[in-house]
Amino acid sequence: MKIGSTVWFTTVFTVAASLVASAQSSDKGAPDIVPHRINPSSGSGVLPGSTSPAKQTILYRGGAVLAQPNVYVIWYGNWNQANGTDNAAGQQIVRDFLNAIGGSPYFAINTTYSTTATTITGNVTFSGETSDAGSQGTKLSDAAIQAIVNRAITNNSLPKDTSGVYFVLTSSDVSETSGFCKSYCGWHTHATVSASDIKFAFVGNSAKCLSACAAQTTSPNGNAGVDGMCSVIGHELEESTTDPDLNAWYDRQGQENADKCAWTFGQNQYKAANGAWANMGWNYLDPVSGAVLYHRDYLIQRNLLRTANSTGTEQDYCAVSYDPATHSFTQ
Ligand SMILES: [Zn+2]
Repeated sequence: MKIGSTVWFTTVFTVAASLVASAQSSDKGAPDIVPHRINPSSGSGVLPGSTSPAKQTILYRGGAVLAQPNVYVIWYGNWNQANGTDNAAGQQIVRDFLNAIGGSPYFAINTTYSTTATTITGNVTFSGETSDAGSQGTKLSDAAIQAIVNRAITNNSLPKDTSGVYFVLTSSDVSETSGFCKSYCGWHTHATVSASDIKFAFVGNSAKCLSACAAQTTSPNGNAGVDGMCSVIGHELEESTTDPDLNAWYDRQGQENADKCAWTFGQNQYKAANGAWANMGWNYLDPVSGAVLYHRDYLIQRNLLRTANSTGTEQDYCAVSYDPATHSFTQ
């Protein structure tokens, strides 16, 4: 599917210049897993969030970043249910998001985390998907998530790709027992799989706990659980790009870029056709004729933009979009 014209809003701030990363010593060890905390507003409202600069800038710790992630999806559990969320239409909402996020003004925010070794391009390739109906049961530990990724690679369902980010996306009848719905909505980490450094993430269907893991109960694509997942997927993907091995970009509290903006959705939200809140959207085109086949809107949480003020001092802002050519952004 080709991606057509992007809907973006035009309240724009212009800043001085791009920044060069310089390695900082680590003052707090990063955890083995970086969780995405649950919604502090308990699903009762869609927060725009602050337009002020972050109190602490994010710091570069010297580790590698991913120039351009390849995304792989493992649909875990039963994605063929009659519950209105774990179904083929829900899977297509995720695919369309992953096909559109690469090259978007939203993902371009991550280009400000380029290092002297690696330029982050802002592109993303949705590179493959497979299903696992339940090889590890329905109550998963963190180790079971790794086992699911390991299985998909070792049985050749998915290629082994050190530039990949493997997303284990669980249906709403599956539990992640270390804290899904209670202390987090998703997480990312890395591990050695088949002698290679593999980056992977867990995101559960938000339908399991909409008040904790979704921002609204009526969502742009009519599937609040999966629409909620897309926001968490975006968050984990940008952190997996800028901090894939948990030793590149995080602040003094151990917060990665998207953590600093979690559960805020910006100043330019609009109502999708069904009345749900959204902040970005794409047309999906017929690859031959170029005709618009359909349109989707999404409500995706903001990410931290590294930028500088007029005197060159770093200032970081939560943003929804960024234009690397002009350094302008929307919040
Ligand atoms: Zn996070």
